[in-house]
Amino acid sequence: MKVYFFPGTITASKAYRVMTNSGNQPSRSLLCDIMMYKNKDISTIPAIQWGLKHEATALSAYLKKFEETHRAVEVVRPGLVTHREYPYIRASPDAIISCDCHGYNIIEIKCPYKARCMEPKQAVLESKIDYVKIGINGTL
Ligand SMILES: [Zn+2]
Repeated sequence: MKVYFFPGTITASKAYRVMTNSGNQPSRSLLCDIMMYKNKDISTIPAIQWGLKHEATALSAYLKKFEETHRAVEVVRPGLVTHREYPYIRASPDAIISCDCHGYNIIEIKCPYKARCMEPKQAVLESKIDYVKIGINGTL
């Protein structure tokens, strides 16, 4: 997935910081991030490389499982999406999936580097992944 950069853009990854920052005195570091004054190349960071390398595999595995229980599944990888009314708000969802039974949903793929040599359930049990929970029946 190609990563896009536009100065002055509030991307999904910055949205939380924007929404929880003071409107009267926004943080200087947030403004610098939004304006990309200190834009640095993160493509050589091992965790970033890991994520980019495994994103397509993760999406394929998810789709295979999803298609078992949903009808007329379609997937698009939209790249950069710009808000129609507020063009300074943008996001790059990993994919948008649709099915006849549930409509449209956004997919955000996570390939956590700190769990790279583990099965997903093991990573959850060992708290390497904290945004996935184990259900009553033992499934993720
Ligand atoms: Zn469905």
